[in-house]
Amino acid sequence: MPVKRRDNREYRDLSLALRRKARRADTPCWICGKPILWDVDWRHPLSYTYDHEDAVANGGKMRGIGRPAHRSCNSRRGAPRHAITPPRDTREW
Ligand SMILES: [Zn+2]
Repeated sequence: MPVKRRDNREYRDLSLALRRKARRADTPCWICGKPILWDVDWRHPLSYTYDHEDAVANGGKMRGIGRPAHRSCNSRRGAPRHAITPPRDTREW
């Protein structure tokens, strides 16, 4: 069973609000500066994603400032760094 994130709803609201605003202003991707494609499938690499600033990684507010970014750019940056390091797999194959 998938784990439901507690802030999922709030996150989605933030994401949608930013999307509306960014689309109206035609805000480009903040990572590469190129335009975001608004009318493409969400799986499209140039589609909109809500990208958290480094606030999360720096132990800042979880629901801090978000910026519009391409899906591809966002994932290229990698998953947000957390204070907790994931358990290392020590098993050798
Ligand atoms: Zn981009």
